[in-house]
Parts: sequence; C-alpha cells; structure tokens
Amino acid sequence: MNITLIQGDGIGKEISDSVMKIIEASGLQIHWDIVNAGISTLESKGELIPDEVYQSLEKNKIALKAPITTPIGKGFRSVNVHLRKKYDLYANIRPIKNIGKAPALHHNMDIVLFRENTEGLYAGIEERISDDERKSIKVVTRKNSERIIEKAFDYAKQDNRKKVTVVTKANIMKESDGLFLDIGREIAKNYPEIELQEVLVDNMAMQLVMNPSQFDVIVTGNLYGDILSDLMAGLIGGLGLASSANIGENMAIFEAVHGSAPDIAGKNLANPSALLLASCMMLHYMGEYETEAKIRNALETVLSNPSNFTFDLGGKLTTTEFTNKIINAL
Ligand code: NAD
Repeated sequence: MNITLIQGDGIGKEISDSVMKIIEASGLQIHWDIVNAGISTLESKGELIPDEVYQSLEKNKIALKAPITTPIGKGFRSVNVHLRKKYDLYANIRPIKNIGKAPALHHNMDIVLFRENTEGLYAGIEERISDDERKSIKVVTRKNSERIIEKAFDYAKQDNRKKVTVVTKANIMKESDGLFLDIGREIAKNYPEIELQEVLVDNMAMQLVMNPSQFDVIVTGNLYGDILSDLMAGLIGGLGLASSANIGENMAIFEAVHGSAPDIAGKNLANPSALLLASCMMLHYMGEYETEAKIRNALETVLSNPSNFTFDLGGKLTTTEFTNKIINAL
C-alpha cells in the first residue's frame, strides 16, 4: 500500500525515519512515497509546496506528515493550515491518554478533542488598516460547525463515551461562538444517551489543569482546540506524546501535535512517540488494527521503564536509541 510521507522541517526527518523503521519492523509493508514541503524545500527547490506533494496526496489519499516550520508574525502562511483547507480536512482529532510511566501531571486521562480545522480565527482573513491598526476576522458557519460537532457525537456514541463538552466563548462572541453553541445544543438532541456539557474556554483551561478526568470528548473551534490540545499534552508528559489526525471526506493526514522544534533539530534528541502515535491513528484509519495494537503495546512497554525515556521526558536516550528499544519490544 502507498502512503505519502511529508518529511517536514526541523526534527521532521529524524522522527519520520524513526517511524518508518518501526513500522517496517512490525512486519507491515508500506511503500512510502517520500516528498517534502516547507522551509527546507523553499531553500532547495524555491517552492514551499512542490507539485509532487499535491500529486502524491491526491493519488494516495493518506499521508503521514512531520511538522513544518511557519515563520512567526511575518512571511508565508502556514503550509499545515493551507493543506487542511485545500483538502477540506475538517476534523482535527487529538486524543490524550497516559502512556506507560511518562511523567504525567494527572493519571487516568483518556480524552479525545475534536477541533474544527478549516475556519474560525484561522480563516486567514486579516487586514492591515494602518501601521497601528490590524484586523482578524473570525468565521463560523453552520455547515462546518455541524459536521465537526456531529463527528464528535458520532465518535462518542461508537466508543461508548458518556459526555461531549462543547467549548466556546459564547458569552462574549455571541454571534460566532453563539452559533457554534446553538448547533451543539441542536445536535445533542439526536444523541439522548450522551450528556451535553457547555464550558467557556477560560474555565475549560482551568478545569483541565485541576480536574481533567471529568472530561471525555471535547468539541471546539480552531484556535481554542489548538491551545487546549497543547495544554492537555502538557498534562500527560509533553508534546512528545501527543498525536493528531486531520480527516476529510476523501483524504486524511496524520501528524504530531508538536511543531518542528528547531531548538533540538539535528541533535538526535527528539522523541518520535507523537508521530508514532499519529501513525497508529493512521493504521486504525486503514483498518490495520493488528499492527496498530502491536506498535501501541511496544510503545507502552518501552515507556513503562523510565530508563528508556528521551530527554523531554527527563531521560537520556537519543532518538536512535529510543527507536531501537521499540523495535526490540516489537
Ligand atoms: P514546537 O512544538 O516545535 O516546540 C515546543 C517545545 O517542545 C520546544 O522546546 C521543542 O524542543 C519541544 N518539542 C516539540 N516536539 C518535541 C519532540 N518530538 N521531542 C522532544 N521535544 C519536543 O513549537 P514551536 O517552537 O512553537 O514551533 C516551532 C515551529 O513549528 C514553528 O514554525 C511553528 O509554526 C511550527 N509548528 C508546526 C506544526 C505542524 O507542522 N503541524 C505545529 C505546531 C507548530
């Protein structure tokens, strides 16, 4: 089977090489169509997203993507946001679950966050009124809100979960977030067995830090989802352990929650677990449940021994050593 692999920037090559080696060791044969986008291709080929990336994605429909650098406060728009919008990958799904003995702030966490992935404040509608005044427009539509909220409720039903928490700031943004919340209330009526909880995003941040086990499935807008999922990653041991899926009707791109980590790039220090967990979400999507379980078990076994931790978890193993531990556990 053919899968597109986007190597990305920063630690991208190190962690994607690790994941490819681990999947190969699991016995599953994947033909990786390796392409690249981002700053590295801009420098080498003069293009941020070469045509071969689009061609590969459109042919294979499934991709594993390492992080891509986006210049902060200037320069080109995010390649990540562009791909999500171009291919209408409307559902960004971010599970958070404790793994092994990773140094978590809370235990018994098992939350899945659904983030609207195509609009909100990431719609990219910004205006420079003058040097001293700028505007960003937040877009919330019925169509895009309905499909992400339905996806969250459908998942809750299929996975026997009890509660869906709709997170907004509808007390202040009465139009945009008000619409999202109204749609949440409408859709919840079709799922009488699932409790609807409404929480404002500021309170949500505090509740997640103090008492995260009260949450089950969360559904929210683009920016809130981005921030809350990083916060939740911090609760289970950091960004090195948080994975993510971008799902549309015809394509799915799987990636880590974290970015390209330029501070540790090229040092063989990165924890490949987040991208590996994203590859497990991909294997699940592909119906490769046995391989998914094998890899998840191997990761759980390795992370159950603190002497196997990479530096982000307080340990000493390099990316290569950690990868070999997982291959041995397989
Ligand atoms: P980041 O996630 O890259 O890094 C934040 C911190 O976490 C850093 O200290 C980093 O060293 C650490 N870290 C991240 N991943 C790690 C890993 N696998 N193992 C060990 N430590 C890890 O966030 P940032 O520094 O804010 O962003 C860097 C770049 O990444 C920016 O250009 C940003 O736009 C981009 N970014 C891309 C994506 C994506 O491709 N989906 C997501 C977020 C950020």
